[in-house]
Amino acid sequence: MNILKSVWTYQCPKCRSAKMFKEPFELSNPLNMHKKCENCGENLEPEPGFYFGAMFISYILSGWMLLVPALILLFVFKWEVNMTMVVVILLAAVTYLKFLRISRSIWIHIIVKYNPALKKQ
Ligand SMILES: [Zn+2]
Repeated sequence: MNILKSVWTYQCPKCRSAKMFKEPFELSNPLNMHKKCENCGENLEPEPGFYFGAMFISYILSGWMLLVPALILLFVFKWEVNMTMVVVILLAAVTYLKFLRISRSIWIHIIVKYNPALKKQ
């Protein structure tokens, strides 16, 4: 499994064989994570506030992913500002949870290095 697929599907960054987040998904607790990887035992929350940095990734990702469609609608399709804002707000609402989780996944994949020897057989 390559790193992009591992990040996108929220796999453990160390072994890429087990999920970081508990399933089934609960809307009331979208960041319900395993404390340790179920396959390799990697600590998925190394220290309190570890995912603080993920906030910046989420900010950058969501900023660009909302700015680009807004600019396209405004300047290419010549939409009005109010209609563009409606679309951007709906897009933000729809993608909010994905950005929340993907930013944590990106953050821990930056910090923890992959070890192919720990991959589940
Ligand atoms: Zn693991």
